[in-house]
Amino acid sequence: MSHVFPRHCHATLPTAVGGEGCFLIDSDGKRYFDGSGGAAVSCLGHSNIRVREAVKAQVDQLAFAHTGFFTSDPAERLADLLISQAPGDLDRVYFVSGGSEAVESAIKLARQYHVERGQPQRRHLIARRQSYHGNTIGALSAGGNAWRRQQFGPLLVEMSHIAPCYDYAERRDDETPETYGQRVANELEAEILRLGEDSVMAFIAEPVVGATLGAVPAVPGYFRRVREICDRYGVLLILDEVMCGMGRTGHLFACDADGVAPDILCIAKGLGAGYQPIGAMLCSAGIYDSIAQGTGFFQHGHTYVGHPVAAAAGLAVLQEILEQDLIAQVRQRGDHARAALQARFGQHAHIGDIRGRGLFLGVELVADRASKQSFDPAFGLAGRLKKAAFAEGLVCYPMPGTRDGRNGDHVLLAPPFIASEAELDLMVDRLGRAVDGVI
Ligand code: PLP
Repeated sequence: MSHVFPRHCHATLPTAVGGEGCFLIDSDGKRYFDGSGGAAVSCLGHSNIRVREAVKAQVDQLAFAHTGFFTSDPAERLADLLISQAPGDLDRVYFVSGGSEAVESAIKLARQYHVERGQPQRRHLIARRQSYHGNTIGALSAGGNAWRRQQFGPLLVEMSHIAPCYDYAERRDDETPETYGQRVANELEAEILRLGEDSVMAFIAEPVVGATLGAVPAVPGYFRRVREICDRYGVLLILDEVMCGMGRTGHLFACDADGVAPDILCIAKGLGAGYQPIGAMLCSAGIYDSIAQGTGFFQHGHTYVGHPVAAAAGLAVLQEILEQDLIAQVRQRGDHARAALQARFGQHAHIGDIRGRGLFLGVELVADRASKQSFDPAFGLAGRLKKAAFAEGLVCYPMPGTRDGRNGDHVLLAPPFIASEAELDLMVDRLGRAVDGVI
């Protein structure tokens, strides 16, 4: 009997023993194409030599030094490289161990920023429905994913949730994508005014919604309008790129495609690419200065902040992405994967939408294409699909959606940036056979 507390108590899992390129290998020798990088983590595949060597060298050199006493060379170098690529006036990097910690740090930093500036009444965080920002109490409170929140309601901090920008499902027939985007962005202004003009500290959103909706980018102009509203009311814009950042969408940072820079940016998953657990929160010089010139101390911190081995992995990952020009490759391979999905599923009676950016792709499954009506949740489509794909040798990320009232099921795909066209065709083929097997 296993003593590991698993995610699903009744699942019998194979033991992963190896990783080669885009494939994971279990103890029976079965090979699985990693079509979702777990959850958009393994952007460089499973055997990148540069990152492996960097991790080994750093462990030999220095495994750990607490940041209450020391800084370290890999953390300094990674911060410099991130900032040299970051949008807007992002100027400081706060390292953490993963996505939830990055979001917790962002929420607390936003609050402390306003307190330091003499505006302690700013205490509200506005987020969006159908979002996911992590599983710790603060991040879960910000997230709007009803399924993930349901058991923990009494523990969650009260936060506002406005509509996401979900063109496929929620744009009205009389709207263009642009007018729809303005309408939902304007919900932010309405909510700020409802809560009290000077009582909101920040707005948080995923530029491309990952785990809740399945690779849904906003329509053009949406985030520019959001930025305008935030500026008008002194509200900080926090963008959560834990899943969609680090090149995944064909831009190093997803918000680059929207032409918008946040005040605080959260990244994780692709930063360590699975070789080490690392996340980061980037903030503007103005936010940093408010604390440096105020109390001089960010009232936060985790033991493994700026861990040297994790930072060494992150540095090697980012160098690899930049030096191998993997962003261009993501765009090209993303176009290829999307075309392959379109060819396989474009006319499929139960595929409602194929979407995403770069190698961050989503396929929404519907009972009826015309009405966009989803399957009965009791059918358990996402679970069945995950199992069927796994049997085919494909790791992908099917999720029961949480579209209000209609529950849109989808599959999220986030294959490694190094996947060849033939490997992406294999991914689509295996997914196609899994879909055909269950519906
Ligand atoms: N934010 C987003 C957008 C995510 O997709 C996730 C995880 O899926 C998180 C935050 C939480 O990250 P972690 O699981 O590393 O804590």
